[in-house]
Amino acid sequence: MEEEKSEHAERDKFGREMHDAVCSDCGKKCQVPFKPMEGKPVYCRECFQKHRKPRHEGSRRW
Ligand SMILES: [Zn+2]
Repeated sequence: MEEEKSEHAERDKFGREMHDAVCSDCGKKCQVPFKPMEGKPVYCRECFQKHRKPRHEGSRRW
């Protein structure tokens, strides 16, 4: 278990706080613009797209 006492937050170019996370799907390290919560899966950008309910079939924008 890794626990960081200090808030490790970086900001992306849009000024959003980015939090380190590990993708629950592919296991890659990624950063998410929200605080990852315990017990809640976090997905990297690619997997997020995969897991999100597609509104349009076959839309691949990444
Ligand atoms: Zn992933």
